[in-house]
Amino acid sequence: MVDIRRLDDATVERIAAGEVVERPSSVVKELVENSLDADATRVDVTVERGGKDGVTVADDGIGMTEAEVTRAVEEHTTSKIRDIDDLESGVGTLGFRGEALHAVGAVSRLTITTRPRSDRDVDSHRGTKLTVEGGEVTSVEPVGCPEGTTIEVDDLFFNVPARRKYLKQDGTEFAHVNTVVTSYALANPSIAVSLTHDGRETFATTGQGDRRAAVMAVYGRDVAESMVEVSAGYEADGGDEDGTLPDGPLDGVSGLVSHPETTRSTREYCSTYVNGRYVTASAVRDAVVSAYGHQLAPDRFPFAVLFLDVPAGDVDVNVHPRKLEVRFADEEGVREQIETAVESALLDEGLLRSGAPRG
Ligand code: ADP
Ligand code: MG
Repeated sequence: MVDIRRLDDATVERIAAGEVVERPSSVVKELVENSLDADATRVDVTVERGGKDGVTVADDGIGMTEAEVTRAVEEHTTSKIRDIDDLESGVGTLGFRGEALHAVGAVSRLTITTRPRSDRDVDSHRGTKLTVEGGEVTSVEPVGCPEGTTIEVDDLFFNVPARRKYLKQDGTEFAHVNTVVTSYALANPSIAVSLTHDGRETFATTGQGDRRAAVMAVYGRDVAESMVEVSAGYEADGGDEDGTLPDGPLDGVSGLVSHPETTRSTREYCSTYVNGRYVTASAVRDAVVSAYGHQLAPDRFPFAVLFLDVPAGDVDVNVHPRKLEVRFADEEGVREQIETAVESALLDEGLLRSGAPRG
């Protein structure tokens, strides 16, 4: 007789947590999204040893009262949606599954220090410090702290040794963290985002600039100055539709792409956002590269930061927290629109010979 047993709650919880938290960069992603949802104007990310020893995300957002933070770390708690109708209507927030803080707390030592912002209609004189260890709330106490929220995650997977062992070298884990923080910094130029690794600042945006200023902070001056503006499908000031976007699934494409000689040897410097959300989409990367045609040296790839407007329904907006790869109903149409938009931006700047054969 096969012995089929029900798993105990602690085991179930750790398995569930593993669905949300795969590695330090997934913790960073969840915490930064929470900060952005909390209306922060600055988000400072600090990691130790690629995030394996510590991840700290500090924001100046709306903060939490003691009651709110106590609730926030419980299972399936969120302030962002109420029911399934809110889900269908497409909420304007990044997270809404209400599982991130709980999941992170289940597999780490978590400390939340928070104080409500004074413009909120709650008692904002008092801060609260709450600690969780391996899923258990170990303390809640009043504390003096600035308005906003600082979340510290130490010793990720200390209680899941198999997972801990699977983490890569510091440099590899940090590269994932860097990709995540970079993607939010580039998409939110009006928020000051900084990243620090083992005491050294990797980059910091000012929160006062435009997209090009954010690119400068993240990738440096040479790259920023080489960037060409892409804007297709949006109504020009005169009210005429910009003609550079052929018919297809996208309502618009905007952003920046680099000069054909400002390149790197890997594709990862092409950041794509669908309706404001960072995604990976190999179709988009391919389309960008092919827009450059023979202007790109072999095995060289441009920088790109592209924002796609897609009508809901033409893209699979998957709500799984770890799922970044998007699927378009009409992939070929998207490909063609992006290629045309990027090509015409490069042509306008005289960076492509018109009629040049495509690569
Ligand atoms: P979700 O983001 O899906 O709502 P989380 O577990 O990530 O779920 O967060 C739970 C709740 O905790 C949020 O809905 C929000 O109310 C609160 N919260 C989390 N992080 C912050 C923060 N940085 N500032 C203010 N409130 C926060
Ligand atoms: Mg969240």
